[in-house]
Amino acid sequence: MPRSEAAGAGGEPGTGAELTIDLGAIVANYNRLRRELGAVPCAAVVKADAYGLGAARVAPALAAAGCDTFWVAHLEEGIALRAILPQARIFVLIGPRGDSAATYVRHGLTPTLNAPDEIETWATHAAGTAAALHIDTGMSRLGLSPRDMDWLTDHAVLLDRVPLAYVMSHLVVAEEPDHPLNAEQLHRFRAARQRLPQLARAKASFANSSGIFLGPDFHFDLGRPGAALYGLAPTESQPNPMAQAVHLQARILQVRDVDVGDSVGYGAAHLRLRRGRIATLPAGYADGYMRGLSHRGRVVIGAHTVPVVGRVSMDLITIDVSDLPADLARPGQLATLIGPGMTPDDVGALAGTNGYEVLTQLSRRYRRRYVDA
Ligand SMILES: *Cc1c(COP(=O)(O)O)cnc(C)c1O
Repeated sequence: MPRSEAAGAGGEPGTGAELTIDLGAIVANYNRLRRELGAVPCAAVVKADAYGLGAARVAPALAAAGCDTFWVAHLEEGIALRAILPQARIFVLIGPRGDSAATYVRHGLTPTLNAPDEIETWATHAAGTAAALHIDTGMSRLGLSPRDMDWLTDHAVLLDRVPLAYVMSHLVVAEEPDHPLNAEQLHRFRAARQRLPQLARAKASFANSSGIFLGPDFHFDLGRPGAALYGLAPTESQPNPMAQAVHLQARILQVRDVDVGDSVGYGAAHLRLRRGRIATLPAGYADGYMRGLSHRGRVVIGAHTVPVVGRVSMDLITIDVSDLPADLARPGQLATLIGPGMTPDDVGALAGTNGYEVLTQLSRRYRRRYVDA
């Protein structure tokens, strides 16, 4: 049997990985986006629990930095955020139903109206209360379609009862600045606003994180970034100007020698072609370290990057430390699964997904630590 060593009583609390969330980096990113927007105000998108990083900690930090406008996806997220931020302006992206209008009003939440029935609902149940209006310019997902815009021009009188906080739209491929759809969406957005004086007069919001870096034509009256606040790269094939806000570290649990022909992990999917050493780390797909990282993930130990070998299990991964200096390949050694040298974007690329999914899958099982500037 190969010999193995176990992490002894090292005095470290807990056996799992530790997730450090740098609120100072998130605030720095907010200020960086504000600089990019010039005089145009910058909101913060904190849907999905601030992209998995914890809205209860992230939103107050941004509010303290001067952010007064927040966007979430669901009504329930808005209600939860209202309890944390009594003063902020809170927009909800998914529109109201007939029976939820009163709930919006009671919690001081501003809905986004995405369809004709939602405009009618709001004009009926919340007349005189502000809402955002979403025009679809290319996502084909939410928002008024071209046919809905025809309907609205015939029913423009409804807008007398719906004060528009913002007319908004959402970019499809802003992370690729040269993609022709960016200019096309901008053209469609401007043209749609020109169809009614109420839309032309209202403030407008267009740019997500990536859109902010497309330049002033895309800024209108409010930036609406999420991803870049949390350190994701706004522009493909460009250096990432954002600060890294997430650091996920775990200590090696065990190290063992493996021989030619030994198998590693479930399914015997990794068979040793050479002798070496395997280290085990306490993070798996139940922690959001995706199974798609089997045989593909990479972790950083000291100045070295080492590969994940074998399948990602529910609670554990195995890494090949054969080429590491012996003093780094030992139980208790810290490994970085996500950090400056292995960003969420990097992990997403290795897993065949994106940094957004990596962040939003970060589990509650990790010990969480928040640090300030
Ligand atoms: C999620 C979302 C955003 C934020 O996008 P990022 O790419 O994370 O900056 C902005 N607007 C809408 C409508 C969204 O759904």
